[in-house]
Amino acid sequence: MTENKPGKITMEKLVSLCQRRGFIFPSSDIYGGLSACWDYGPVGVELKRNIREAWWRANVQERDDMVGLDTSILMNPKVWEASGHVTQFSDPLVECKSCHQRWRADDLKENKCPTCDGEVTEPQLFNLMFKTFMGPVEEAANVVYLRPETAQGIFVNFQNVLNTSRKRLPFGVAQIGKAFRNEITTGNFIFRSREFEQMEIEYFVKPGTDDKWFDYWVEERLNWYMKLGIKKENIRLREHSKDELAHYAKRCFDIDYNFPMGWSELEGVANRGDFDLKQHMEYSGKSLTCLDEESKEHIVPYVIEPSAGVDRSVLAVLCDAYDEEIVNDELRVLFHFHTDLAPIKVAVLPLSRKENLSAVAKDVYADLRPCFVTQYDDTQAIGRRYRRQDELGTPYCVTVDFQSLEDNMATIRERDTMNQIRVPIAALRDTLQAKLAGEDLFVLPEGGVIWKQGGE
Ligand code: ATP
Repeated sequence: MTENKPGKITMEKLVSLCQRRGFIFPSSDIYGGLSACWDYGPVGVELKRNIREAWWRANVQERDDMVGLDTSILMNPKVWEASGHVTQFSDPLVECKSCHQRWRADDLKENKCPTCDGEVTEPQLFNLMFKTFMGPVEEAANVVYLRPETAQGIFVNFQNVLNTSRKRLPFGVAQIGKAFRNEITTGNFIFRSREFEQMEIEYFVKPGTDDKWFDYWVEERLNWYMKLGIKKENIRLREHSKDELAHYAKRCFDIDYNFPMGWSELEGVANRGDFDLKQHMEYSGKSLTCLDEESKEHIVPYVIEPSAGVDRSVLAVLCDAYDEEIVNDELRVLFHFHTDLAPIKVAVLPLSRKENLSAVAKDVYADLRPCFVTQYDDTQAIGRRYRRQDELGTPYCVTVDFQSLEDNMATIRERDTMNQIRVPIAALRDTLQAKLAGEDLFVLPEGGVIWKQGGE
């Protein structure tokens, strides 16, 4: 492939761009990294925050039937006995008899080592929970686990939430937080890591209404991705077959995304029945029931669980927004992020570093910063700076030029179309606010003019 041909996204291109532009770095980079752990850089952290915030807004803030929670990562180890993780949360592990590499048995197409073709051992179950010790004595009695999912923190707080939030069935609890799994096979960048973040909902319903709510949440979650700009053709639903279903689950759908390595799970939506609450009732001896308003009886609700990964959402958003095109015989690489997700909303670019121009541009920057994540960049030629902002997915660039000193106007350049308008500096903030909320670029403020259509 020549530099000058627009091509498709590959994981290699994405990893390199993410590292070059400060989205994502290998963890502990200067020590050679740590397998399947990643750090979010100055730009990546904003993208990730925006994804979390969009999820929280849609699932907690804008709903009357949901509340949020933030529970601790370390929990009483009995939680993991009750949930079944101590005995069940395992993958089948095989080891190559020649090179001793370890693999997840269900990842191998034939019973051969993918590296050296050697024979592999019989599968043994390998528990994916990370163990550590609580307190200063490292003995079995002090073992605690790093949580492998955030969901259990919700179940064990069921009664606390019920007592304090005055919610009645159906209602849900949402949580975003870190989870840890000692995955046997990792890879595909941030798709499968050992430390990751989940966004989970446990939605409690009256038994008998669970099928309806299950369908509702599958639809709701699918729409959430599409509202954030994920293309319909890149997302699909896949129902778990009977033998794939966890023993307690009534039904489960994966929401899959068409990642560069193929269709893979982005989120799972499961009908877990009353399994979790009943297990915790048995192991804790506490009642985890609530009043059914109709029958006036105390019941154990069923639960619908939409469980999404923050990092997998970041990856899907990056893949979906990535684009290459030729502009003036040069390759332009850009991210078409939805404005709500774009890590940097506005870049202020003075045409030159001349003092009188910098002063105006810095005033503009100071005016915009409290409202939007804004970057100031006065290095290199303006074309290079536009390309850099394209690679960061910045929806709007504001350019201050010498004419600005005379007419108090600045140009706003749109990322996707490269169209430009020129508006009074005093109207910049309101204009950008409207554009970021979805208004067409060519709707002009008083005194504004269309400057340039397309091209660069
Ligand atoms: P997989 O089959 O890919 O291992 P899973 O079915 O075990 O995933 P769940 O237990 O349903 O995953 O977890 C819910 C969500 O958490 C997943 O849809 C995914 O987005 C995220 N997730 C799970 N494991 C990882 C991981 N190792 N790295 C990043 N995200 C993960």
